Amino acid sequence: MNPFVLKGAQQQLVELLKGKGITDENVLSAFGKVERHRFVESFLWDKAYKDLALPIYCKQTISQPSTVAFQSQLLEVSKGHKILEIGTGSGFQAAILSAMGAKVYSVERQLELYQKTKTLLEEVDYRVVVQYGDGFQGLPRYAPFDRVIVTCGAPNVPTALLQQMKVGGIMVIPVGEEVQTMKKIAKLDDTHYKITNYGNFTFVPMLEEIVKGPAQQ
Ligand code: SAH
Repeated sequence: MNPFVLKGAQQQLVELLKGKGITDENVLSAFGKVERHRFVESFLWDKAYKDLALPIYCKQTISQPSTVAFQSQLLEVSKGHKILEIGTGSGFQAAILSAMGAKVYSVERQLELYQKTKTLLEEVDYRVVVQYGDGFQGLPRYAPFDRVIVTCGAPNVPTALLQQMKVGGIMVIPVGEEVQTMKKIAKLDDTHYKITNYGNFTFVPMLEEIVKGPAQQ
């Protein structure tokens, strides 16, 4: 992509996000740095800086930029935070959090996506730890986390994810079947949580167990 056109498109997207209520400077500056077109196939490049969810491999989607920005803002990320992401997908959300200065650990259940995205994130030079596994289990090996973000529609709030979060930590998770409610869950102590709802969204579903082949959903 022509670097001049790219900078203009990124700037327009940042302005659009401001118009949609994104005020966290760290989120906005990450959108000015991460090149979203690198996370989709080249036939979609003309749409990469529009506020659209787009198809990626394995019948999954890269979330709409405004949704990525909204979830990132709700997470209240500080530099150095250790973040667990469930649903690596294209890797774009992970790259945004990494550009915000976080150390990101991301889990994907589709083998093909896991392999492609792990390679891509190395190419674009975002140091994300990408793991192949079932997000319902979290990543006990790397716990505890300051922040947890789920980027697929969860049928419930997985207990393992609550347990792997530090006290004082925040989880942002869309919960529901057809349509999801965005929830921000603050961990007050080992047994108490404060839950706040932030409107409705539509994500691909969070499904149990890993997928081994080049399968879908
Ligand atoms: N954060 C991604 C969004 C991808 S869509 C991005 O920025 O592009 C959600 C992803 O969650 C899909 O790739 C899907 O395969 C994955 N997923 C669904 N259920 C999962 C589970 N139980 N564990 C890990 N990943 C899961």
